[in-house]
Amino acid sequence: MSITEIFGSNVFNLTVMKERLPKDVYKAIKKTINNGTALDPEIADVVANAMKDWAIEKGATHFTHWFQPMTGITAEKHDSFIAPTDDGKIIMEFSGKELIMGEPDASSFPSGGLRATFEARGYTTWDPTSYAFIKDSTLCIPTAFCSYSGEVLDKKTPLLRSMEAVSKQALRVLRHFGSDATRVISYVGPEQEYFLTDSELYHQRKDLILTGRTLFGAKPAKGQELEDHYFGVIKERVSSYMKELDEELWKLGVLAKTKHNEVAPAQHELAPIFSTANIASDHNQLTMEIMKKVAERHNLVCLLHAKPFEGINGSGKHNNWSIGTNTGENLLKPGDDPISNKKFLIFLCATIRAVHKYGYQLRLSVATAGNDHRLGANEAPPAIVSMFLGEQLDEVIQAIKAGKTSIDKNEENIETGVDSLPVLKKDATDRNRTSPFAFTGNKFEFRMPGSSQSIAGINIVINAIVADVLSEYADRLDKAEDVDAEIWNIIKDTLNEDEAVIFNGNNYSDEWVKEAEERGLPNLRTTADALPLFKSEESIKLYERLGIFTPIETSSRCDIMLEDYAKALHIEALTMIDMASRDILPACISYAASVAESVASQEAIGLSVSKQKAVAKEISELNEVLIDKTDALRKAMEGVGSDDPVKEAEYYKDNVIPAMEALREVADTLETKVDSEYWPMPTYTDLLFYA
Ligand code: ADP
Ligand code: MG
Repeated sequence: MSITEIFGSNVFNLTVMKERLPKDVYKAIKKTINNGTALDPEIADVVANAMKDWAIEKGATHFTHWFQPMTGITAEKHDSFIAPTDDGKIIMEFSGKELIMGEPDASSFPSGGLRATFEARGYTTWDPTSYAFIKDSTLCIPTAFCSYSGEVLDKKTPLLRSMEAVSKQALRVLRHFGSDATRVISYVGPEQEYFLTDSELYHQRKDLILTGRTLFGAKPAKGQELEDHYFGVIKERVSSYMKELDEELWKLGVLAKTKHNEVAPAQHELAPIFSTANIASDHNQLTMEIMKKVAERHNLVCLLHAKPFEGINGSGKHNNWSIGTNTGENLLKPGDDPISNKKFLIFLCATIRAVHKYGYQLRLSVATAGNDHRLGANEAPPAIVSMFLGEQLDEVIQAIKAGKTSIDKNEENIETGVDSLPVLKKDATDRNRTSPFAFTGNKFEFRMPGSSQSIAGINIVINAIVADVLSEYADRLDKAEDVDAEIWNIIKDTLNEDEAVIFNGNNYSDEWVKEAEERGLPNLRTTADALPLFKSEESIKLYERLGIFTPIETSSRCDIMLEDYAKALHIEALTMIDMASRDILPACISYAASVAESVASQEAIGLSVSKQKAVAKEISELNEVLIDKTDALRKAMEGVGSDDPVKEAEYYKDNVIPAMEALREVADTLETKVDSEYWPMPTYTDLLFYA
C-alpha cells in the first residue's frame, strides 16, 4: 500500500463518513466538527450502524469509549459487538445509545474527592469532533468523561471548554476589526522527545521498570559533550523502529512528519503536523502509546520520562500553539509589516500579557516530579517563565513604545557565500532555544512541558489565560467611542505594563535568575512550590469566570496533581531503598570482602599491599555510608502521610528528596569504584550506547 492509502486507513474520517452516511447525516456531523454546534441525537443510530459495519469490515470485534481520566493517560473498556438472538446465535450490534454514552465504573480513577466511591458512576460521552479509529481490533470512540453530578473527571472536557472560551473572547475582539469569522480555533503541534534503550537491559533495572527513570547511575565516560548525536545518522535498529512507528501512526490518521536524533545519546524526536488542540491532544496520547508498543516489537523500550538519566538531557514536549479563524486566518501571523498590522499586534499583546500576568499558571501546568529534574538544568528552560519575541518584533515594540507607527524595513538575506546556492530570506525570528515561551514566526513554542505529560492540561492553561486577557481587551473595545484609538491604547498599555516578561537573552544564565527577580517574575523551582497556586483565589476565579472549571473542580484537580507528585516520589523512594539494600549493598560488600581476602593472602606471603588496603578501606567505608543513607531515607519515609496534599508535597520536597539525593550520591560513587563484574545492573554506558 502507498502512504496515501495507508494514511487514515483505520480512521472513521470525513471521507469514510461521506461514503457511508446518508447525505443529511454526513452534513450534520460535518457541521458539528467545523462549527462546534450540538449534534442531533436522532442521527446517532445511523452513525453507529455505519461505524460498526466499517469497523467489522476492518476486522474489529469490539468497541470502546476511549477517554482521558486524570491519570494523564488514556483508559478504555472493551465491549464486543455481539448480541444474542432467539435461536442461540449472535448478531453484531452497535446502537446509537452505545455510541453516545457509556457508563464505565469510575470508582478507581482519581477524582480529587469529587466523587465518593459509593457514587462511583461516571459517564463517557461521544466527542464527534475527534474521529473514531480502530486499534487492536477495537473501534475506539473518543469520549469525554464526567461524574453522575456533571463534574468533569477528565482532561478532554476542560480542553474543549478552554477552546470555546478562547474562541468566544477572540471573536469579541475580532468583531471590532470587522472580521466575518464565526469561530476561532486553537491549534497545537507537539514535538515529542523520547529515549530508546534495549529491552533486555531495561528489564535488569528495577528503577526503570517501576519509575521510568534511573534512580542510580554514575556519569558515563562519554555523555553528550561531543554533540555528535543531534541530527546524527540514525542507526538501523532505530530507523526500522521509526519507520514502523510512522506507519502505525499514519494508519491512525496521526500526521507524523519529522523524526530525528536528539542531543543526548539514544534520544530522538517525533513531530506531527499541527491540528486543533483537541485532536492534537488525542493524537499525542495515541502517539505515546504506539511509541511504546512498537518499541516492544524491536526489543526496545521507549522511555517517555522527562528525565530518565541524570547528567544527560531530559526529554521535553515542545507545545507549538497558535490561534486562527475558521476563515483560515492565523491570528499570530505578523505579515510583511507587523507594525501596521493591528490585528496581529492585539493578539500578540494578549499573549504577552497573559504570559506575564499568569506566568505561574504556565509553570504549574508543567509541574511534575519528573519535570522538576529538567527545568532549570542546563538543557531546558528554567522554572522562570519569560517570553522571547526575536529581533524583528522587538524592534516593532520599541518603535511603538517610542510613539512611532512605522519602521524601516530591513529584510535581510542570508549570505552563504556560494553563488550556486539559492539566496535564503532570513527568518523573522532568531531561534532562542533557551526561552520557555518563544515566538517562532507565526506561533508560540512553549518548551517547558515534560515528555510524558498529556498536553491537554497545558493547552487548557494557555487557552484560558489568553482568553482572559482577550476578554479584558474586548470589554475595553466594547466601551470605546473611538475603537481605533482604543486599539492603540491597549497595545501601548500592554507593552508598558507587561514588557517585563519579554527576555531575549540566555535563560540558562545565573544573571537571568537575578534579573528575573528584580523584574518581579516568579521563580517557582519545584512542583511543591508551583502547584498550590492552582487553587489560589485568583486561579479559581479565572477558571470559573471562563466556564472551564468550577471552583471545586479546580481545587480537586490541584489536589490530584499534588498527590501525583507525592505518589511518584513515594514509589521512587521505596524503589531506591529496595535497590540499595538488596542489590547495591550486597554487591559492594561482596566486593569489599573479595578485596580484603586478596589483600590478606598477598600480605601473608610478604607482598606489599598498602595501597590495595586503602582500596579495601575506602570501599568498606563507603559501604557504611551507603547503609547510613539508606537508613536516613527509610527514616524520612516514616514521616509521610499528611492528609493535606500541600503539606505532603512540601514534606517530600524538603525531607524525602534530599535523602534520596544523598543516597544516590554515595551509591554512584561506589559504582565508579566497584569491579564491574560485581555491579548488579546495567550502567549508563550500557543503556545509552546499546548495540
Ligand atoms: P522546530 O524547528 O522548532 O523543531 P518543527 O518545524 O519541527 O519545529 O515543528 C514545529 C511544530 O509546530 C510542528 O508540529 C508544526 O506542525 C507546528 N506548527 C507549525 N505551524 C503551527 C501553527 N500555526 N500553530 C501550531 N503549531 C504549528
Ligand atoms: Mg521546536
